[in-house]
Amino acid sequence: MRDKKPIIGILTNIFTIEEGQFAGMERIYVNREYVKTILKAGGIPVMLPIIEDLETICKQIENIDGLLLSGGQDLHPHHYNEEPSPKIGTICLERDRYEIAAVRHASSLNIPIFGVCRGLQLLNVVFGGSLHQDIPGHSQKMKREEAFHTIEIVPGTKMHKIFGAEKVKTNSFHHQAVKHLAPGFRATACANDGTIEGIERIEGSFVMGVQWHPEMMVNLHPEMQKLFDAFVAEARQ
Ligand code: MN
Repeated sequence: MRDKKPIIGILTNIFTIEEGQFAGMERIYVNREYVKTILKAGGIPVMLPIIEDLETICKQIENIDGLLLSGGQDLHPHHYNEEPSPKIGTICLERDRYEIAAVRHASSLNIPIFGVCRGLQLLNVVFGGSLHQDIPGHSQKMKREEAFHTIEIVPGTKMHKIFGAEKVKTNSFHHQAVKHLAPGFRATACANDGTIEGIERIEGSFVMGVQWHPEMMVNLHPEMQKLFDAFVAEARQ
């Protein structure tokens, strides 16, 4: 068992082609950087298309060893019992519904979960937390692989163990952030304005989220690969 490569399911996104012969056609995709970092960590990446049928979603999840939550749109605030602010961004309810079901089922099976950006927000919402719908100062106007702000990592957390450092520089492409942290979770990292940049489940199977995009940084900042290595190592067990 130990030598077997774990299968990592990657949550996908949808977009509709706007122009040309295929206008109106929907496509399901992941950013290739997720695939590359999972491969580099020794995992077998598979894409999980957005579907509706709960039984089929459960079968998808039962066939993976780890679940990677990708970035994307804003979650609908109804999922955390709030009304949309005028500053809310694009929402895809179909994706919300799919991902909430996928995370719940993965958690019930103790499948390790790692969430990136929207993925962190999704974890916080699924497990009972809420979000700030619009915060300033976290959307960098720089290349995506470049670090924008510093985060302070909380000693004693899994994330601290992964990086072996108390300060790390990250990129930043979010306008939402954790407001009330989900019960059973702790903040693992904060920016200097107090924005929560990392969360992890305190007990039980591995559930971790980061608010930045480490998969975009790995070429310039190889330490970011450590997050994917740790996640895939958990999925291997
Ligand atoms: Mn940030």
